[in-house]
Amino acid sequence: QFPFGRRLPCDIYWHGVSFHDNDIFSGQVNKFPGMTEMVRKITLSRAVRTMQDLFPVEYNFYPRSWILPEEFPLFVAEVQMMKESDPSWKPTFIVKPDGGCQGDGIYLIKDPSDIRLTGSLQSRPAVVQEYICKPLLVDKLKFDIRLYVLLKSLEPLEIYIAKDGLSRFCTEPYQEPTLKNLHQVFMHLTNYSLNIHSGNFIHSDNVNTGSKRTFSSILCRLSSRGADVKKVWSDIISLVIKTIIALTPELKVYYQSDIPAGKPGPTCFQILGFDILLMKNLKPMLLEVNANPSMRIEHEQELSPGVFENVPSPVDEEVKVAVIRDTLRLVDPQKKKRKDVHHEINHGLFPARIHQKTTIESCKNKVNVRYNYFMCYRCQTSEHVSETKDELLDAGPADRLEYDTSKNTEAGLPSLCLKQVFPKYAKQFNYLRLVDRVAALFIRFLGVKGTTKLGPTGFRTFIRNCKLSNSNFSMASVDILYIDITRRWNSMGIDHKESGMCLQAFVEAFFCLAQKKYKSLPLHEQVASLIDFCESHLAALDEKRLACGRG
Ligand code: ADP
Repeated sequence: QFPFGRRLPCDIYWHGVSFHDNDIFSGQVNKFPGMTEMVRKITLSRAVRTMQDLFPVEYNFYPRSWILPEEFPLFVAEVQMMKESDPSWKPTFIVKPDGGCQGDGIYLIKDPSDIRLTGSLQSRPAVVQEYICKPLLVDKLKFDIRLYVLLKSLEPLEIYIAKDGLSRFCTEPYQEPTLKNLHQVFMHLTNYSLNIHSGNFIHSDNVNTGSKRTFSSILCRLSSRGADVKKVWSDIISLVIKTIIALTPELKVYYQSDIPAGKPGPTCFQILGFDILLMKNLKPMLLEVNANPSMRIEHEQELSPGVFENVPSPVDEEVKVAVIRDTLRLVDPQKKKRKDVHHEINHGLFPARIHQKTTIESCKNKVNVRYNYFMCYRCQTSEHVSETKDELLDAGPADRLEYDTSKNTEAGLPSLCLKQVFPKYAKQFNYLRLVDRVAALFIRFLGVKGTTKLGPTGFRTFIRNCKLSNSNFSMASVDILYIDITRRWNSMGIDHKESGMCLQAFVEAFFCLAQKKYKSLPLHEQVASLIDFCESHLAALDEKRLACGRG
């Protein structure tokens, strides 16, 4: 721990809260700039909504959501409309304060008029969301899944998912929401931090029982009931990839602002906690993403009223130790060096026999010290994942990982719990990455390095360079479009630090331009066509400049 910073550079920095915990200029840091902001309830809902506008079917894993207070009238109107078109629809909604966690301030309502539109909503905005009334129950209880995901790199995108996660159980048997039971948090909210205070909470030493279990134990149970576990797993993988695709455009804007290209800076990776609810029909739904998931492997036990003690929690250890251990294995800076040496040996650049021995010996020692702590934990606490359970999770679309390091340095370590899903499945998902390409255009025209907002001149240059202005769309209309959209986004009070057009505002303006230019197509085709159009003009321009430079 270096509470006052550290002068000598490290190869890996493990920050407790955010990217900005310390100034760093090299190595790797376990947080991305802007991630905390990106996964707040409102920002996540906005980012997913943009994707839902483009790809409604692909993004139907996130409940319909409205942002309060600004979208309250829209919420009322849309609910009214849906009720009129389907009178049998009897919805429930869940109101969640922005930036809240651990179930803090959450409540259920049956009608939009039940929202507590008091002063607090103005000072603390919230998301209101359709409540999933038919969750899958195990032992008559509602539960959710916490899955750990490693975002190893943003550019190129690299995503890993942990083979096992946690299932956190409610402590009162579930009933579909009625006016009578809406307030029963132990029935409707799966938060550990709430249910731990219920008299019914069961701490178990066994990962298959109790109020917190491994996700794999649930899958085993579902499989024995005949459920298609492979499909559940592949739906979860696709939910994770799609969610990260929704987050990457803005993350890239933050990234270039904090770590400008061409200047010394660290690279980033991050472990994210995905909270997922399985519906009765086994469809996974995204509840939220956590940028700083708890890595505690202890829980509090009440010895006598009001007196608590921390005791080891085998379920948490089983899942979390493996996640951290394998994250370090994957980002290990020594790994690349070992690989290079291996390459050199294999290509006859060194007298192989002597060198191989020393290199492997010295690596082995370093690695052993490094992993000792984690290995000890595993040996003390849990059995290795059994063959059958392993097979079950391996049965998903993620095949056995190739972890290409010299086998000797990995000897004795359990197989990786983190499975690469991207770029492995990139082909199936790349068509969704339209907003990423819009963000690349936005970043190109930002001009001054270190900013996150586009000024009016940058926007005009974008229009000019991409040849988007014509007799039907004058430069005066361009300015009006810029002012209208920017003013509205800035009035939502998201970020007043800088003036100008934020990425979401630019995306909205881009969609407007696309709709204007390619009227009859579906939105995602309009947007894709406009991106192609802009990219080709910019490529031609670059070529021209290059030729001029040469000349
Ligand atoms: P927090 O960050 O405060 O934990 P969440 O969004 O995770 O907020 O919600 C808390 C709990 O409420 C979840 O763990 C889940 O049990 C329940 N919940 C949240 N959203 C929904 C929803 N749309 N449908 C059903 N249950 C939900």
